[in-house]
Amino acid sequence: MINVQKLTKKYGKFTANDNISLHVGAGEFAVLLGPNGAGKSTLIKSICGLLRFQGSIRIGKHDSHTTEAKRILGYLPEMPAPYPMLTVSEHMEFIARAYRLTDWEQDAQRLLERFELADKQKKLGKELSKGMQQKISICCMALPKPQAAILDEPLVGLDPYAIRELKSMLLEWKQEGRAVLVSTHMIESVAENWDTVHIMMQGRVVRSCGRNALAEGESLEQLYFSITGGADAAEDPEARHE
Ligand code: ADP
Repeated sequence: MINVQKLTKKYGKFTANDNISLHVGAGEFAVLLGPNGAGKSTLIKSICGLLRFQGSIRIGKHDSHTTEAKRILGYLPEMPAPYPMLTVSEHMEFIARAYRLTDWEQDAQRLLERFELADKQKKLGKELSKGMQQKISICCMALPKPQAAILDEPLVGLDPYAIRELKSMLLEWKQEGRAVLVSTHMIESVAENWDTVHIMMQGRVVRSCGRNALAEGESLEQLYFSITGGADAAEDPEARHE
């Protein structure tokens, strides 16, 4: 569903993503881990069509630059950015119109109830707390029912109830056969549901493995520390300059 082939992204002479290939299949919950500066956000932004890059990225059958790819791909950015002058319900209407959805009102209502925004429908984007901004961002991503979804640090700022709902929503998506890719530093937050992990360091994916490849009794956190050494200090700032 999400297919990245030989992706290289440079900022000037600095290589932020170095020949990355990875695949997230339908019904797969993949996790992207790595220390700060490893290149995770660059990879995510490239997949979502926000950056120019070398290589090839396909979403389903579509090249990532096409409208068809963008129609089936959901993206939750690290920093929510609601429209300041749209109300909560207008955000839903805007997304519905942009995606030309039909019969979306009930879905929107259910999502707003699920993320406890139903009684905030008249609030403007600029009046929302950080957590509420994250929740409206989640609702906007979910309304078009994306077949593939990429979430960058999705739990930051959420209250425990919303964390539980988001986790269960992503589990439902996986069971419905959608592809989910989550980038996070909160390893324990994905410990129950992950199928595949991609660990990045210094612009490269240094380890990709499925859950069943873990040693007996080994946790995802232990795997992460065994590979990264547990330190951002592993990063040599000069190593990726030409
Ligand atoms: P991560 O999400 O894993 O923390 P990023 O993809 O944000 O990593 O960054 C990877 C590297 O690319 C970092 O060294 C960062 O400083 C650099 N970088 C990110 N964005 C830019 C940019 N717009 N211009 C130059 N360098 C950038």
